[in-house]
Amino acid sequence: MEKKQFQAESKRLLDMMIHSIYSQKEIFLRELISNASDAIDKMYYKALTDQSISFNQNDYYIKVSADKENRTLTITDTGIGMTKDELEQHLGTIAKSGSLAFKSENELKDGYDIIGQFGVGFYSSFMIADVVTVISKAVDSEEAFKWESAGADGYTIEPCEKDSVGTTITLKLKENTEDENYDAYLESYRLQSIIKKYSDFIRYPIKMDVTESRLKEGSEDEYEQVTEERVINSMVPIWKKNKNELTDADYEQFYQEKRYGFDKPIRHVHVKVDGSIRYNAILYIPESIPFDYYSKEFEKGLELYSNGVLIMEKCADLLPDYFSFVKGMVDSEDLSLNISREILQQDKQLKFIAKNIKTKIKKELESMLKNDREQYEAFYKSFGRQLKFGAYDNFGQEKDVLKDLIMFYSSKEKKHVTLQEYVSRMPEDQKYIYYATGESVERIEKLPQTELVSDKGYEILYLTEDIDEFVVKMLMTYDEKEFKSVSSGDLGIEDTNKTEEKEEDKELFAFMKDVLDGKVGAVKASNRLKSHPVCLTAEGDVSIEMEKVLNAMPNNQQVKANKVLEINMDHSVFQSIKSAYAQDDKEKVKLYTHLLYNQALLIEGLPIQDPVQFTNDICQVMV
Ligand code: ADP
Ligand code: MG
Repeated sequence: MEKKQFQAESKRLLDMMIHSIYSQKEIFLRELISNASDAIDKMYYKALTDQSISFNQNDYYIKVSADKENRTLTITDTGIGMTKDELEQHLGTIAKSGSLAFKSENELKDGYDIIGQFGVGFYSSFMIADVVTVISKAVDSEEAFKWESAGADGYTIEPCEKDSVGTTITLKLKENTEDENYDAYLESYRLQSIIKKYSDFIRYPIKMDVTESRLKEGSEDEYEQVTEERVINSMVPIWKKNKNELTDADYEQFYQEKRYGFDKPIRHVHVKVDGSIRYNAILYIPESIPFDYYSKEFEKGLELYSNGVLIMEKCADLLPDYFSFVKGMVDSEDLSLNISREILQQDKQLKFIAKNIKTKIKKELESMLKNDREQYEAFYKSFGRQLKFGAYDNFGQEKDVLKDLIMFYSSKEKKHVTLQEYVSRMPEDQKYIYYATGESVERIEKLPQTELVSDKGYEILYLTEDIDEFVVKMLMTYDEKEFKSVSSGDLGIEDTNKTEEKEEDKELFAFMKDVLDGKVGAVKASNRLKSHPVCLTAEGDVSIEMEKVLNAMPNNQQVKANKVLEINMDHSVFQSIKSAYAQDDKEKVKLYTHLLYNQALLIEGLPIQDPVQFTNDICQVMV
């Protein structure tokens, strides 16, 4: 028997295939099963024009069987088979795809798309096998042929016996090495899980003989080994089914089967797009937050299928970061895959789908917000932070997508409200959207800075998360209304009895500022305080809250807010300090100034630089 050589380029290509194209060895099974499925599809197409063939779905299947003793794995199909010439052409020449040619010669029907296109998948079997034997009998042919190859040094073809039309591929597994246990590919559970993972939605049954120990009939403790043929794959993907045939329970079951999460999804969206780029998607909004969600370990992404075959487990490009909590899958016939079918060429189809999906998710969230407020609030508790990051990220590029999904706690409603809701409630004379920052609602509630705004009857948004104020600064406005911190210099509220600083007060404030020795930019009369003696505010772009956040960051930027110590001139404490100053009791003024300043720090939740001195000061006053 004559041994034929692979072409020189083919040799090198084969070597590349085996060693570098695929990142995971297990995909060889996906490739062989895809080829088998293509071969059955070709039978289907032939039957359309050939009266002598009746395409009875039940006669067509793929079978995977392992022989542990001989260490062989066999994949059989009842597809169209290959003639001697085809064996030579399609398997003897790397990068020659009979399937690609078939696609260009036939008009494909929806639901019967051919998977193959590159003419390399078959060779992935050499990643796990030393010898590959293909026995095939083509339809319309009387004779069968055996093609065999041990890799780069060529192949042989000879006539052989085979009763039925179709192809049987036998892989003689490589010897185990330290790094790789090839025997694993003989284990039934492993094979089943690989089939489930990549080939679950191949539309023909993939069968295996599965052995189980079962209680003997009539016995209570005697077991027997029972072997039965089972279909491993689900065949019809749920996403190809009609939406109105599916129930919530079906979607939930799919979520569980696919292990998208251990929880129950609160929402699902089934997308079917039939335009110039066709795709199906099922998207889920999970109920609970994955334990690693806000950690570096978390990987976003959707499962990506091409024609029902899994291409990627987590395709990150399909989801923007701010929707990274979404789970689910996308299936499309129109993707430009690369040769290993593992990753995609940066392609416009994928970008198109991603953009589409983004809009669908946004719509779904908006509908949840509108129609099931309670559910949205629960969702927001888990993932609101991510939405806020999204609005802030990339210089606010996506803020318009997200601004209506963001909520903050409201001083009036005592719960989270949207900006839309806030603005719709604004009285006519209210110019700004007011907010206050602090580490908790309770804490903000007690902030003296909120007094004037609250007294006016205006609603205040409480910003309690470190990201919040950055988001607000990034948004700048909502519905043309500017955001305004209750601690900012100009509150835009007309104060009828505005406090006037007299000359002598100015002098006192200048003295107090000197006492504080650069810790504040100014000491001045407050327009916002009603019952509290003192508070700390900031002038300029950096607020006190932002200073806290920025300084807590790992690169520890020493950003300082321009702090202002505001004094309530109507408060009796101010009268005390004033009279001390009038009596030229400088020591007392210094003492009071330090006390007031430290009180303001405490109210703001800022650390006191010298707590011992502070307690000594208090003692001094008490004695
Ligand atoms: P591709 O599937 O991308 O075309 P492969 O290397 O997987 O590339 O297969 C090469 C060609 O060999 C296929 O296009 C097909 O013509 C033929 N082939 C492979 N496996 C089978 C099979 N089980 N039955 C019939 N033809 C097959
Ligand atoms: Mg193939």
